[in-house]
Amino acid sequence: MSKNYVDEIIEKLGQKYENQPEFLQATTEVLDSLRPVIEKNEAVYKKDAVLERLVEPDRQIIFRVPWIDRNGDAHVNTGYRVQFNNAIGPYKGGLRLHPSVNISIIKFLGFEQIFKNSLTGLPIGGAKGGSDFDPKGKTDREIMSFCKNFMLELYKYIGADTDVPAGDIGTGAREIGYMFGAYKRISRLHEGVLTGKGLEYGGSLARTEATGYGLLYLTEEMLKCNGIDIAGKTVAVSGSGNVATYAIEKAQQLGAKVVTCSDSNGWVYDPEGIDLAALKEIKEKNRQRLTEYKKYRPDSEYHEGRGVWSVKVDIALPCATQNELRLEDAEMLVANGCIAVAEGANMPTTADAVKYLQDHDILLAPAKAANAGGVATSALEMSQNSERLNWTFEEVDSKLKNIMINIFHNMDDAAKKYGMEKNYVAGANIAGFEKVLNAMMAQGVC
Ligand code: NDP
Repeated sequence: MSKNYVDEIIEKLGQKYENQPEFLQATTEVLDSLRPVIEKNEAVYKKDAVLERLVEPDRQIIFRVPWIDRNGDAHVNTGYRVQFNNAIGPYKGGLRLHPSVNISIIKFLGFEQIFKNSLTGLPIGGAKGGSDFDPKGKTDREIMSFCKNFMLELYKYIGADTDVPAGDIGTGAREIGYMFGAYKRISRLHEGVLTGKGLEYGGSLARTEATGYGLLYLTEEMLKCNGIDIAGKTVAVSGSGNVATYAIEKAQQLGAKVVTCSDSNGWVYDPEGIDLAALKEIKEKNRQRLTEYKKYRPDSEYHEGRGVWSVKVDIALPCATQNELRLEDAEMLVANGCIAVAEGANMPTTADAVKYLQDHDILLAPAKAANAGGVATSALEMSQNSERLNWTFEEVDSKLKNIMINIFHNMDDAAKKYGMEKNYVAGANIAGFEKVLNAMMAQGVC
């Protein structure tokens, strides 16, 4: 018997990209759950090479980024922009600055972004970019030198109606500001070419909070639809960056108690609940390590290394990075009575951990749905830039909440439609894919 179309593509990808493990992990997971959609019309999709076109980016741009350090010495890093799919709107996706960045990671993130952006219901395609530059320990001048040189090349490929990058790990308001300044200087256009901008020059209120808040709006809805109230629940959060900070803030506002957070060196356990003001001062203001937290809260614990998932909690919110929640962590969470995991970071749960959680009936909200609030609010920033208007915090926040509730119901409905009730991983992939598929079919082979 000849191989089915999905298996054929997974096999070809495995051969062609054996050196891109993160990209293979992301594509395999998505393609696997699209089987019921593809099987409905396999011959037509195969004839039009729909899956081959879906897994191959429209273009991949890799470039040299020279920059000057505080001693006047020059350094070179590698810059990336992968424009994956613009079937439903201009390319959109963040820029990651982290030493681990490589083409596999950027492709996995860009691929996931296609479906995430589609799920928001807004007209945005999928892309991702970044560099292996490490912003940690750099002075503002060094960061500026890197960002200006990064944009000196990137500007050729982006634009308000072409491709609109945003922040991600290592790219916050400071970096976006330097990049926007460079773009404006080169292009003479004060346009919505980047999102996550400062409020004084085109940014949107609530964008800073959006990913973390959105994660909690979706988690609250998922729990509610399963007869569970988030108030009074104990929560483990990993990370202490943008997503983690505002996930903690909204979880606390909803009456939950967050007892952990982490950075890449270690983690904090604060049984009385994380002191958010202290965390913001350490991370947002002083850009320090989490070892400082104990000075503010002497009764808390700081541990080197990994460990946030070993604490007894009802809800786990991984908000740091990919593959940070592994099989042994999933086993500990289940053993400790955890009922739900919602992914704030991109692909934070390894494939075997996802399976273990699903096999144990843990409610699992996948990243492309659960953290879509960031890009959704970025798209709202684009709308405000086009209108040349600024919406209030409340307007943006209430739109964000509606979008997250809709995303939950779209993935829930898709899972039910294909007989996979409560499999939100499959539901999110299918709901995100169907819109992109229809747009690709309508636009013909190109
Ligand atoms: P930040 O850079 O603000 O924070 C990242 C946090 O994760 C930091 O606490 C960092 O610790 C930790 N971290 C990063 N890499 C590692 C690692 N390899 N091991 C352990 N800890 C690590 O990034 P964001 O909060 O913006 O992003 C977090 C995740 O959320 C990423 O997966 C990102 O792609 C995703 N995301 C972000 C969105 C946004 O709007 N910002 C939107 C959608 C998804 P340290 O400071 O020590 O490096």
